[in-house]
Amino acid sequence: MPRRQHFSTIDFHVTCECNQECPYCWGPHDIENPVKTFIAKKIIDKVKEVGARRIVFTGGDPLKRNDAGKLIRHAKTIGLEVALSTTGDELTTAFLRWNAHYIDLISLPIDGSTEEVNSKTKEKNHLEAVMKALRLLKKYPKIDVKICTPVTKHNISDVPNILKVAEEYKSSTKASVFYNIFQTFPRSQNEVDWKKLVVSNREFGVLKRKLSGRKTIRVNFLDHKTLDKLYLMIFPDGNVVIPEGDNFTSFGPFLKLDDLNDIIKRSKFDSQKHLKHSKGWGNRISAKASIH
Ligand code: SF4
Repeated sequence: MPRRQHFSTIDFHVTCECNQECPYCWGPHDIENPVKTFIAKKIIDKVKEVGARRIVFTGGDPLKRNDAGKLIRHAKTIGLEVALSTTGDELTTAFLRWNAHYIDLISLPIDGSTEEVNSKTKEKNHLEAVMKALRLLKKYPKIDVKICTPVTKHNISDVPNILKVAEEYKSSTKASVFYNIFQTFPRSQNEVDWKKLVVSNREFGVLKRKLSGRKTIRVNFLDHKTLDKLYLMIFPDGNVVIPEGDNFTSFGPFLKLDDLNDIIKRSKFDSQKHLKHSKGWGNRISAKASIH
């Protein structure tokens, strides 16, 4: 009898480096020696071997690595669906010319519809960098675009305006565009004063109701309940990490694991939720595959 697969997506955090210093960042910090290209490729091979359908290159900003294109091309060539989660700061015409064909989805963050709001949690002029990245992506409509907003006390009243930015972008491109709105999750490897950032479940619920029926784009709302125990990560040092609550539990080097499904069963990872959450985008990829 075939074994039940407990996951479909693995997030490979290939670096801690990032131009941004978001106060809510739950990415890895202080890993000084990320795996080299050769080992990163072995990890990607194993992601495929253990039965994942999709790899998400994330970080930090994966584009801070000068081998990011190589890793992306390798993942696609061995048959994985490839997503790239980047700040937009380093997305260039040259990078896309070489690598766009190997990417299924790019995810970009917008924290505010104006530089003023955006720069409360991102660096100055980050919004301009994202808008430039979005303009470049119009040349590559086969890449799906996910715009993301981590909702904090700083931007909650601006989210309807960010939604308009996302809708306007969707109407200007042939690409599939959708918008993920996150309730910023109080988990970080840094010390954070969460009271200044995190919106309550009630506030997030009110926002969700306010936006329902007012959108011309697919919007996903991800609250704390949805976001917890959802991710299966490989950190830049090659260790498997499954976060739960505010903990980052490490299960040791991915390349030395005999059975990832066994570790998942022993962890608090919510495989049912993960598989359900992964479905939406997967359906779009299958549909695209049958069209082209
Ligand atoms: S852009 Fe992402 S990786 Fe970079 S600091 Fe912000 S949350 Fe962390």
